[in-house]
Amino acid sequence: MKYKAYTLNNFKSIPQIEKLSDKQIQDIEVVGNVLPFKVSNYVVDELIDWDNFEDDPFFILNFPQKDMLIPGHFNSIKKMLEEGADRTTLNAEVERIRLSLNPNPAGQQYNVPQFDGEPLTGIQHKYDETMLFFPSQGQTCHAYCTFCFRWPQFAMNDFRFAMKEADLMVKYLKAHPEISDVLFTGGDPGIMKTKFFEYYFNALLDADIPNLKTIRIGTKALSYWPYRFTTDDDADDLIKLFEKTVKRGVNISVMAHFNHPRALDTKAVSDAINRILSTGAQIRTQSPVLNHINADGEVWGEMWRKQVSMGLIPYYMFVARDTGAQDYFAVTLDKAIKIYNDAYTHVSGICRTVRGPSMSSDPGKIHMLGVSEVNGEKVFVMRFIQGRNPEWVNQIFFAKYNPDALWISDLEPAFGEKEFFFMKEFNQMRNSQHDLEHTERVE
Ligand SMILES: *Cc1c(COP(=O)(O)O)cnc(C)c1O
Ligand code: SF4
Repeated sequence: MKYKAYTLNNFKSIPQIEKLSDKQIQDIEVVGNVLPFKVSNYVVDELIDWDNFEDDPFFILNFPQKDMLIPGHFNSIKKMLEEGADRTTLNAEVERIRLSLNPNPAGQQYNVPQFDGEPLTGIQHKYDETMLFFPSQGQTCHAYCTFCFRWPQFAMNDFRFAMKEADLMVKYLKAHPEISDVLFTGGDPGIMKTKFFEYYFNALLDADIPNLKTIRIGTKALSYWPYRFTTDDDADDLIKLFEKTVKRGVNISVMAHFNHPRALDTKAVSDAINRILSTGAQIRTQSPVLNHINADGEVWGEMWRKQVSMGLIPYYMFVARDTGAQDYFAVTLDKAIKIYNDAYTHVSGICRTVRGPSMSSDPGKIHMLGVSEVNGEKVFVMRFIQGRNPEWVNQIFFAKYNPDALWISDLEPAFGEKEFFFMKEFNQMRNSQHDLEHTERVE
């Protein structure tokens, strides 16, 4: 199959769109001016159930929905479109709304640190063992998720960070022997042509970096364009490159993003998975828990069971970030724990490699272990999976139970303590250091 993308400009040419009412089409046009909108022909033809599209998880995942904007924002754009406002006026309003949606949730603006006299763009190094690499050719995706906090990168060029040279990556890895993993991230690096993968992988292999053990690729291509690994012109070469890399003693782990078990049902995806696994690469899976998409323990249990039966390793359940259409997708921490427990208690031990629900917050990845009662006080029990200070990892800490909390910022320490154990040190770090972080990626 040949890849085709539909966006705001041409989505009305999708044959199945005739099932939508004029009002539904207008809603997409209004919201699609603010949130990024792109869907692949694979999602349209093989994933969405068009007989039930209003409730279909893949439709909601890719097509902007009216309730993703607050009524004030929605009505303002709708009015402008109806009145035929000029592009400049419309763009100014769109920009104003986007900025109010917290497009850069990591907090402070990115200070590009220097390395070896050059700006260290395209690299993020927050946790000792793993360096994130943002190849400049991988900063878009086969389709855009309506929940994604990465959307400023697609819609606002100011927020785009990328690096062209593999050189810098190699130098940085050599200077940092504590790094064992390089994680290619984006956007979706799966969108890159194989020749770019070859360029980067060969640079890493040729440099013979003893500390480099694993290359990870954070990608949603298995959900949005599995033909990337099977029938695309350069699919065979990508598979060969994986084989070669594994043979040279560097692990490959595809960090695959699946939001719903139905994304595992097509022949295309199972062919793609089999081909990747045949190279000796591993596939680990992750997804945020999302209202309207997968906020149900049975859905997660089914997803993990299917994944394991196909040879995939469940890795993370994430909490959706405080950005973009968060009100639409948000699940309380309390509910996320319930969904996780519901699923976890109904799968066998081999599915229990998964960890979650986890928040990728500024201080680190915070794992919500559960709800408990200590000396009569109801609390959330938490730990760091990753911490800005590695010594925080695996320390248990407690927050006052709050059934409405959506994010760490909504929580207070339990037992009358003033602040969480890491806060003092974290604030010092924030004040004193160049911040290596910009927008954080879920992988
Ligand atoms: C999740 C994450 C990693 C990888 O962490 P692992 O625990 O090794 O999966 C690396 N860097 C950042 C910024 C992350 O959020
Ligand atoms: S979640 Fe991944 S695939 Fe989806 S829009 Fe964001 S970066 Fe792209």
